[in-house]
Amino acid sequence: MRRSTPFLSLITLTISLSLTAAPARVHTTKTHKLEEVAEGVYFATGTGAMFLMSNAMVVVTDEDVVVVDSHITPAASRALIESIRTITEKPITTLINTHFHYDHAHGAQSFRDVQIIGHEYTREKLIAAPLEEHSFLNLQAAFERGLVDLKRRLDETTDETERGSLEAQIAFNQAHIKATEEVQPVAPDVTMSDRLTLFRGGREIQVHFFGRAHTAGDVAIYLPKERIVFTGDMLLGGISWLGDGYVSEWSATLENLKSLDFERILPGHGPIFYDRARIDYVQAYYEDLNKEVVRLRKAGLTAEETAAQADLTRHSDTLGVKDRGASLDAVKRIYQLLDQNND
Ligand SMILES: [Zn+2]
Repeated sequence: MRRSTPFLSLITLTISLSLTAAPARVHTTKTHKLEEVAEGVYFATGTGAMFLMSNAMVVVTDEDVVVVDSHITPAASRALIESIRTITEKPITTLINTHFHYDHAHGAQSFRDVQIIGHEYTREKLIAAPLEEHSFLNLQAAFERGLVDLKRRLDETTDETERGSLEAQIAFNQAHIKATEEVQPVAPDVTMSDRLTLFRGGREIQVHFFGRAHTAGDVAIYLPKERIVFTGDMLLGGISWLGDGYVSEWSATLENLKSLDFERILPGHGPIFYDRARIDYVQAYYEDLNKEVVRLRKAGLTAEETAAQADLTRHSDTLGVKDRGASLDAVKRIYQLLDQNND
């Protein structure tokens, strides 16, 4: 027992070192935290002052600035641009959108005179009917419902502290709903199918499509010298939203992503992570989810029943799946794809 102690503490030390490797400088504005993950490369997340919903990456080259993802509304992306202005005066020339989802792409209109790079599929989706996409409409409906509920609670409460909190939440919801009215989606004007590389101001910025995953056009942005990858929503620290996903193909796509030599993973939501084992965890979950849904569908269950009964609790330790069940959006999506294939 005593002999194992030094070994254990070595493990603990290694883990804590890997979590805290090269502490990043954080530059904070009212709306954004810009975490400098390598010289001139920033991971942009929100301070909570406004609703951004997704993360972004900012790459300052010797000549210009390349931004990856543009938040949920023009107001949110204007705040990002203002925050970038506090770190550099170089022109923002390029925006790369990881995928078409509203929370990553609907701020694109704030960027003037830039080239917008995205996958061919992302362009297709953003010139079609982005304001009719179910992902966008679902969130809008949730905000509207939330507002009605908050107002009802405000009418009912007599507690002054709760009143203040509810009023703040109402203002936050209203500000977001108002900000959404301004959205005029902009599609990429430079598209790619598999790979595109920018050689720019002393930097190499690779844009990779590895296969279908969260959508049919997710790209990962890779900085080989800095060993950083920005993954959008094709890879988060946990389970992504699966409502537009290709769950049966997702694990293979992530396997392709693993071919890159990176150290830091900057996800579209949530904090940076370093632990590549997390990729294995989500791969295993998507594989099991797909199997489980196919099995229950064959047994004649509806999507609702499958969503309630699917057992993925063996992912409890890795992904915190403690209870039976799976996301109904995910199950409906898997059913939809199987129905299309008449399978
Ligand atoms: Zn997404």
